[in-house]
Order: sequence, then structure tokens, then C-alpha cells
Amino acid sequence: MSAFRSKLPNTAISIFTQMSQLAIQHHAINLSQGFPDFDCSPRLISMVERAMQAGHNQYAPMAGVIALREQISAKVEAVAGIYYHPETEITITAGATQALFTAIATVIHPGDEVILFEPAYDAYAPSVRVFGGIPKPVTLRAPDFAIDWRAVEGLMTPKTRLIIINSPNNPTARVLTDADYEQLARIIRDQHCYVLSDEVYEHIVYDGATHRSAAHHAELREHTFIVASFGKLYHTTGWKVGYCLAPAALMAEFRKVHQFNVFSVNTPVQYALADFLGYRDEYLGLGAFFQQKRNLMLAALAATRFRVLSCQGTYFLLADYSAISDLPEHVFCQELTTQHRVATIPISSFYHKEINQQLVRICFAKQSETLEQAAERLARVSEL
Ligand code: PMP
Ligand code: GLN
Repeated sequence: MSAFRSKLPNTAISIFTQMSQLAIQHHAINLSQGFPDFDCSPRLISMVERAMQAGHNQYAPMAGVIALREQISAKVEAVAGIYYHPETEITITAGATQALFTAIATVIHPGDEVILFEPAYDAYAPSVRVFGGIPKPVTLRAPDFAIDWRAVEGLMTPKTRLIIINSPNNPTARVLTDADYEQLARIIRDQHCYVLSDEVYEHIVYDGATHRSAAHHAELREHTFIVASFGKLYHTTGWKVGYCLAPAALMAEFRKVHQFNVFSVNTPVQYALADFLGYRDEYLGLGAFFQQKRNLMLAALAATRFRVLSCQGTYFLLADYSAISDLPEHVFCQELTTQHRVATIPISSFYHKEINQQLVRICFAKQSETLEQAAERLARVSEL
């Protein structure tokens, strides 16, 4: 038999899995993969149980439980002032990852080009390739990771079908502004090009800022798939429930793919999330909750030789280790895990080619004691 023709010949196990495994192996504090080390609300758990006891244990409707879609519509309208129709413009997905994958599958034909910005979340480029799309990465650099929209415009061709953005951004912890969205709208005007806006950290923004969505731009909204995740909203990354928002015509196409991708998503969890969304303080307080953790980590890292870059959102921050080591990022992260027992993520793994900026990503979605203990270990790293 001839050799298997891989669709993703150069794809290995994700850096998040690799670093988490290394952390376990070396009993290191795991600040690498992005997940909280504290539990979700007990009230939310009891709501799932109540939904199960009430018999909500069979398939949900393909687009999602309508009560949940109505609650999402109300939340988006109350928080962002943007309206999405619960019946035609909102679909519940198995986490943001499936929403991203399905949106890409919906839009991309073989040979289509997709502009994305590096450092980029690891799922984007492989998902594009699986459907025969061609990723066109734009390289952004520390410390601001600012987007040169003229350069982006220069990359546009008649084959450019999708632009993927992510704000607040994993891993840069930066946010896009209304001026960015205006530029993006200008670039895709009169083009056959859509936008996929990954907004999973929408409620995690700092220093009095409010999240700006691509959908705040009325013209962009008409060409954009917005992706969100309850894993980030409610500290439930293991439940894998998220959703996609898009104008009705785009959503109709999205659902054609979605119904053969997963068909429908965990029913009792959807009922519970619909109930829990009624408690608005649970998500409105999320920014303040993580800001306190960010500040704790910033203060603790001030006593180390790491230098922290500006952190405007998400539960990640970037730390520059150039005062400590000349090692390339991958090697530095391995040594830091094995020798000092703190696991982080090399930023170079978010680029398609090796770029060494001597930066690591630190996840601070952890209990105060975890963060304090990690910072104590990092303070002992003077040279590596
Ligand atoms: N997008 C970004 C930017 C993320 O950081 C993550 C998860 N860390 C996801 C998507 C995936 O979200 P989910 O777990 O809901 O699939
Ligand atoms: N999104 C998480 C992160 O950025 C990890 C999710 C995963 O392991 N795929 O760390």
C-alpha cells in the first residue's frame, strides 16, 4: 500500500500539550497551557445536575437550545449594544475551536488565501490547510505587536477569502481598537472576503477598558463570524461549549457544515448555561477578577529578572527573559521547567518560522498561592 498522504504533514502535538506533559513529568507549576487551576461556580454545577434530573439528556436542536441562544442574544445586546437574532444568527458549538473550524470550513475552498496575524493561536493555520486554504501570515513583533494595515492591504489578492483576527489576543495580551476595525473594513470593502473574529477573551480586559468587538463596526458585522467560549467565561474549559455569531445568510451556510460536523452540542450544559447567564455579575466581574491576578503577578515578577510587556487583556502575559539568558525560547522554556519547575510557553511556537524574541507566555489564571509560589521560583532564576 502506498504511504498515507497527510493533510497536515508538518503538524506535531500542540505546544500546550507538550509543555503540560513536561510540567507533570517534572512536578513543575504549570503556567503554560491556558486553563484555571480553580473550580467553576458550584451554582453552575448544580444547574447542570438539575438539567440532567429534569430529563434534558437527549439531542439538543442542531443550532442549540433556544433558551441559551436567547440569553446570548440578550447578553450581547446588553453588554455590547449589538443585536443578533437568536433563531437565525447564533449557533452553539463544541467550544470555540469547533466554531473556528466550522467557520473556516464554511468559507474556504481549495486555493483560497487566508490572512492571519502571527503570533497566532495554534488552531488557525492547520484548520485553514485541512480545507485546502493557504495561510498568509503577517508577522507582528514585540513589544506592541501593532498591525501595519497598509502591509495587510498589500497581501490582498482576488483569492483572499478570509482574515482571522483575535482580540483580546492570545498570546500577545493586546487588544484591537476601533481604528484597527476601521482599517480592516476599508481593506475588505468590495472584496469577496470575510472576517473570522476570535473574541473568546471578550470579558477579560483591563484598566477600565471595555471590549471592542469587530461587530461594533456596522459594516464589518455583515461580513464577520464572531467566536466566543463559555470555557473562558465560566472557568469551564473542559466542558467545551462556545458559540458563533454571524449575519443570517452566513449563519445559514455555517449551519450546513455544523450539522455534519457535530450536529448538536451537550444538552444539559446548554440548559444550565442558559440559566446561569441570568446572573450577570458572574461575567461582568470577570475582568476585575483577573485584573487582581494580573496585578499580583506583575508585582511578584517585579522582584525577578523577567521584564513584563503591557498586558491589556486575556489571562496571559508576556515576559522578556533577555536579562537572564541567550537561549532560544523553546530551549529556555524546557530548562525553566526542568531546572526551576515553572512551565511556560515559548512565543516562537505561535509563529510558522523560528523567531526568537526571548519571550515566554505566562498563564495567570491560577490561585494566588500558585502564582506566588511560581514567582518565588522565578525570582531565583538569575542566569540560564
Ligand atoms: N481561541 C483562543 C484565542 C484560545 O485561547 C482558545 C483556548 N485557549 C480557543 C480559541 C479555544 O477555545 P475552546 O476551549 O472553547 O475551544
Ligand atoms: N487555548 C489554550 C492556550 O492558549 C490551550 C488550549 C489547548 O490546549 N488546545 O493555552
